[in-house]
Amino acid sequence: MEAKVNKTEEQWREELDPDRYRVLRKKGTEPPFTGAYTHSKETGMYRCGACGTDLFSSDTKFDSGTGWPSFTEPALAENVRLEADNSLFMKRTEVLCAACDSHLGHVFDDGPGPNGQRFCINSLALDLDPAE
Ligand SMILES: [Zn+2]
Repeated sequence: MEAKVNKTEEQWREELDPDRYRVLRKKGTEPPFTGAYTHSKETGMYRCGACGTDLFSSDTKFDSGTGWPSFTEPALAENVRLEADNSLFMKRTEVLCAACDSHLGHVFDDGPGPNGQRFCINSLALDLDPAE
């Protein structure tokens, strides 16, 4: 696993642009169909927008029709952390970066892959590192 990243909220606020800060550090959600990666078919590794940890490979990306980038599984299971999220009167599972604890999105159990998972992730939480 990547080394743990420990920064104060003050540091994050200075480093991240306001939209990214709201999603990554304040558990915000970008409006559907607005994200840069929603329809992206580019190949490469999607990294954490806050700390650069490898999170999702483009190989596992699929078009869920929800308006957010969707993946069937993380690149490395240990690079993401899952947590129960009962906010907004819904039972959901939050997906966080295991290295820096930034909010990425949620995971649902209606995905098309063999393990049936759909990782619904904000574009603003990701940086695509394109394959050569
Ligand atoms: Zn991170």
